[in-house]
Amino acid sequence: MTQLNASYLQLQGSYLFADIAKRVRAYKAAHPGQEVISLGIGDVSQPLVPAVVEALQKAAAEMSDVKTFRGYGPEQGYDFLREAIATHDYQARNLDISADEIFVSDGAKSDVANFQELFAQQSVVALQDPVYPVYLDTNVMAGRSGKFSGGRFEKIIYLPCTQENNFCAPLPKTHADIIYLCSPNNPTGAALNKAQLQTWVDYAREQKSIILFDSAYEAYITDSDLPHSIYEIPGAREVAVEFRSFSKTAGFTGTRCAYTVVPKSVNVCDPQGGSHALHALWLRRQTTKFNGVPYIVQRGAEAVYSPQGQAQIKQVIALYQQNAQVILRALQAVGLQAFGGVNAPYIWLKTPSKISSWEFFDLLLNQAQVVGTPGVGFGQCGEGYFRLTAFNTPQLTAQAAQRLGALKVL
Ligand code: PLP
Repeated sequence: MTQLNASYLQLQGSYLFADIAKRVRAYKAAHPGQEVISLGIGDVSQPLVPAVVEALQKAAAEMSDVKTFRGYGPEQGYDFLREAIATHDYQARNLDISADEIFVSDGAKSDVANFQELFAQQSVVALQDPVYPVYLDTNVMAGRSGKFSGGRFEKIIYLPCTQENNFCAPLPKTHADIIYLCSPNNPTGAALNKAQLQTWVDYAREQKSIILFDSAYEAYITDSDLPHSIYEIPGAREVAVEFRSFSKTAGFTGTRCAYTVVPKSVNVCDPQGGSHALHALWLRRQTTKFNGVPYIVQRGAEAVYSPQGQAQIKQVIALYQQNAQVILRALQAVGLQAFGGVNAPYIWLKTPSKISSWEFFDLLLNQAQVVGTPGVGFGQCGEGYFRLTAFNTPQLTAQAAQRLGALKVL
């Protein structure tokens, strides 16, 4: 019989969202007529902005005419979008990134999941704990994690991010080859400042490691001193790959468009010590396994960079940022400690003492009919924390905040 990839058996059940749905279903069945509000989702509630919709419609019309119809496009993205990204997101900020270093894709999830393929099986992976679970799971699938015991994979370096270190990951004590950094962070909402990010770039240069920098939430940064891109840090062009997405920036969670920046100056070595450009390897991987993002979608993404598109998406982001403030104020009013929400659409609250993440989930559901995400679902160091998101509508967020204000948790 055909054997499976045994690494898949090492995966720890990702039952988090299934468990949440099950508990919410049970609650609703026992309390018919009570409206449950979700502040747990990582999906957006606001529609695509008009500038994007117009561009999508125009591109759809082009596809209906034999003279303007497009079939397969370039795997790495059309030049019009790569140029717009390089110009607006990098060169306008004086960052040295060129259009041919941009790879357009159907999502940051698939890119961060796939990128590890380029590295040797024995590479040591370091990641923040808690963090977006895709980094860990894809390395488990690839057979890089070692055995799971005592709540940890033995070959993974976990970097605890807790209140004690302001949710800023410490440098690994031993050598790491691949470092995943998510900033602004999902779920803690913490964003690395330039000095903190510099220590990571310095570490990677010294250790000859690669940083995989996920900045899917950079558009939510409000502090003007914080870096939006790792390429704001001197030396990053030699050691870092950056992942960005239109999902939370412009409501593309269902439309699907993202991009990855692979500078031509990032090198990795072969077993004999020969040097290879990561850019060439990723290009080879993408041209072999990926056939590009739909032309229509890329035209929609291009419209994000038009003056109207920029003004419109900024309004939507501001609406979510306002939601975050509403949630933060409500939590603070009942004496709960809350973090994040200022440079990220995530609010990370500390559960009252001796209440676990899941106990707090039940308490919130029963007392306030509000759903969030238990912090432990993002890693062991998330125990005792709880994530709320700012992505619901302002109306439902305000209603949820009112209910949070009536919580009796202390
Ligand atoms: N990276 C992080 C940190 C995320 O939280 C998410 C989505 O929740 C993604 C990547 C995935 O983005 P995309 O919709 O582009 O696949």
